[in-house]
Order: sequence, then C-alpha cells, then structure tokens
Amino acid sequence: MSVQIKITKTTHSKLNEVDFNNIPFGKTFTDHMFEADYINGEWQNAQIKPLTEIPVHPGNMAWHYGQAIFEGMKATRDEAGNALLFRPKEHSIRFNKSAERLSMPHVPEDLFLDAIHTLVDLEKAWIPPQTGSAMYIRPFMISFDHTIGVKPSDTYKFMVFVLPVGPYYSQPVKLMAFPEYVRAVVGGVGEVKAAGNYAASLFPAAMAKKEGYDQVMWLDGIHHKFIQEVGTMNIFFVIGDDIITPNLDGAILKGITRDSAIKILKSKGHNVIEKPISIDEIIEASNSGRLKEVFGTGTAAVVAQVATIKYNDVIMNLDTSHVPVSTMVKDTINGLRNRTVEDTFGWIVPAKGV
Ligand SMILES: *Cc1c(COP(=O)(O)O)cnc(C)c1O
Repeated sequence: MSVQIKITKTTHSKLNEVDFNNIPFGKTFTDHMFEADYINGEWQNAQIKPLTEIPVHPGNMAWHYGQAIFEGMKATRDEAGNALLFRPKEHSIRFNKSAERLSMPHVPEDLFLDAIHTLVDLEKAWIPPQTGSAMYIRPFMISFDHTIGVKPSDTYKFMVFVLPVGPYYSQPVKLMAFPEYVRAVVGGVGEVKAAGNYAASLFPAAMAKKEGYDQVMWLDGIHHKFIQEVGTMNIFFVIGDDIITPNLDGAILKGITRDSAIKILKSKGHNVIEKPISIDEIIEASNSGRLKEVFGTGTAAVVAQVATIKYNDVIMNLDTSHVPVSTMVKDTINGLRNRTVEDTFGWIVPAKGV
C-alpha cells in the first residue's frame, strides 16, 4: 500500500468492563480508531490510535451542508478466534460510489481495506462470540474545510471505529407505510449511504414509533405507491411460491445483505423476482392468504422478520411462527459468518493486520 498506517496502542484497555451478554446497541466503543486526512489531493497521516474526540472547527462544512457518508459492516469470529470480514470489497466499492455522488474523493481500495483489516485484527478480542452478535464496523468520511461557501470541500477526514453489538432485533418488527412522506427520489442520494438520508427519515420514524411501530416502510416518491425499503433495511415478500423484492430503481439503497440474500435464495432453487411492487399488491396478497412472509435485510439486523404492516387504516398481520424462507436466509448468513456453513460464495475474508 502507498500509505503506511502508524499504530499507537492504548495503555488502558477497557475490554474487561464489557459484558458480552448484555451490550447496549451502538454505545460501547473499543479502544482504538483509524484516522486519515485528505490534504492537497492526497490521503495522509493514516494512523490507528486510542479512540478520542477530534477537534472540529464550528465552520466545518460537513455540519452545514452535509458532505458526510458512511458504511456499516460486521466482523465475526470463527472457533479458532480468527476475525472474519463479510464481503469487505463490496463495502469499499459502495463507499466510493457514495463519495462520488457527494463530490468527495475516493478512498483507494487498499487504504480502505488495510484500515479495516488492521483495526479489526487489533480489536479482535472485542468480537462477541455469540451467534448473532458481532463487531460492527463504521467507516465514514466527512468534509473538513471550514468555510460557509457552498462548494465541495478541499480537505476530508476518513475514519473507522468499531464496536461490539448484540443481535439487533430479537422480536419480529412492525412496519408503518405513510402515503405522505418519502425517503428518496430517483436522481437524489437515496441509493448511496449519505448521512443526510437518515436525518430526513427521523421525523416519519418518530411518528411511526408513537403509534407503536418499529420502522417506516418507505413508498416511492412519485406515485407514493411502490414499496422501496424499510428504515435501515431492504425488503422481501414471499407471495405464493415467489420471493419478490423491489428492483434497484435509483432511489433504493443497494444493500449488500440484499444481494447476499438473493444469491443464497437462488442457490437453493427459489424463484426471486426483482420488480416494482405496490402496497396495493401487498394488501391483495394479504387478503387472499398468499402473503406468507415479509422480511428486511441489512448488515445491522441481518434478517428481520416482519409481524405487522400498517398503511392508512389497513393493518396486515403475518404469522411469524412459520417463516422457513427468512429463517433459512438468516441461518445461512449467520452460519457463513461463524464458519459453520461452508462459504461457497467466497464472501468471508479473514482480517489480517498489515
Ligand atoms: C445500509 C442500508 C441498508 C442495508 O444495506 P446493507 O449493505 O445490507 O447493510 C438498507 N437501507 C438503507 C437506507 C441503508 O442505509
């Protein structure tokens, strides 16, 4: 690699303060973080050091105009204690697609992967051994110029931190579809992991929570009819013998777990169809008893079964006691991740420090 990573280790590990059987989601950080600066058109100062706050100027453009992107990945471990990454190259490619759309510089694939491999390998004692638990990896990039002129920044910071996480949803989830709010439109930034997508989703998500629903099921921005995805997950419907997921229309986030689920399902002989599917078709399938399973896919949850969907005054309840399709996908991905299922796809990559 062209950029050398300097490593400074902590003298006060907090590892022994963690209870792996009871990890509050997203709040327990490990000891170290990765950091690199983009200055004068080059990535430099690549380093791993004890996790700490970073000084940021109040005029930092990321805070005002939202040049901020991220990735979400997971590391697990096998019985021998090796740290395993899941499709890391796909995450690197998607990170750079996000960067392009927001006028940010690429992070070269070797820098992105070296940062993750080295940090995860260094922190591997933090990977919880329980199935469904993992180390969550959060690479992100923010602009670092301070000016209030609207333009792409000249300087950037690329960082990675990691944290142990337990299973995301232990219960099936309840979804609410709104006719009036949308997450993204074709031509916008919905298909990339821009931080601002989440800011825009919080208000409808809070309205859904108020009514006892876990996540919003987003409908398309033009007809307000076609299903796009769910909160932080892509979505699949088992209707009769078909498995239907919305096609990637340019507004839907290109989930890597979505892609993995499609490949796993096809490898087991299932008929997976990627096409536009409207909320009316779901209601009809539910009424006729053909809607067998609904599930979300995403790195954080892996697979989340859906118990209820609400749209206006229609409430659809699903029988989550018999969900063979989503259970197979979930068990396969979790099995690949802890090496109890043979990796015929070539998705598992052991983390090795450089
Ligand atoms: C990250 C994300 C997903 C899931 O993508 P994975 O690559 O499977 O983790 C789905 N929807 C949105 C909006 C996301 O940000």
